[in-house]
Amino acid sequence: MPKKILLVEDEKHIARFVELELKHEGYDVFVAFDGREGLELASSENFDVLLLDVMLPGINGIEICRRIRTQSKVPIILLTARDAVMDRVAGLDAGADDYIVKPFAIEELLARIRTILRRITPDEKIGESLHFRDIEIDVAAYEVIVQKNKLDLTKTEYDLLKLLIEHKNKVCTRELILTSVWGYDTDIETNVVDVYIRHLRNKLPGDMNAYIETVRGVGYVMRE
Ligand code: CA
Repeated sequence: MPKKILLVEDEKHIARFVELELKHEGYDVFVAFDGREGLELASSENFDVLLLDVMLPGINGIEICRRIRTQSKVPIILLTARDAVMDRVAGLDAGADDYIVKPFAIEELLARIRTILRRITPDEKIGESLHFRDIEIDVAAYEVIVQKNKLDLTKTEYDLLKLLIEHKNKVCTRELILTSVWGYDTDIETNVVDVYIRHLRNKLPGDMNAYIETVRGVGYVMRE
């Protein structure tokens, strides 16, 4: 089954180009040219990935993202303008998994899509589980249990927590995290890691947010 991608982009030449490239890679591509149509499509059909331009007529990409997140965990990549740093943070806060800055190389976009899709269909050993203090990750079920309660995480938050716990007592550099979770080339400037560490800390109950230590200028560590 080909993976289904929804592209919401009002600049027709960019939309057409990306659509052709994605189809060439074997994806099933749907395109919407404004925010309202995009939101409608995204809510009525099941997609494997959403690609949302931020500046859209009707409803902007960040707002679409916020509304989709109330009902779905579908991976979302935002397409943002080069100088719109605020948009990137707002987009990640709205629940986007990643963003890519325009103009982008199509290979870069394809790489990000492949990474995000690979994460959704992991081939893990059945029954494997990871532990850190009172956190348990049931890898086969893709679930995190904290003090007997299921923690509601997005795929990206889950992958980030899993990586930190797999490397417990060792510092995970921002580069390692970016490459492992987001599939970035290491020299791309981005603040996705810091924003997602904040999401994750906010979701850990009580004083468990202190489980994730910041190693200033280097990265993060969970020490047992
Ligand atoms: Ca636009």
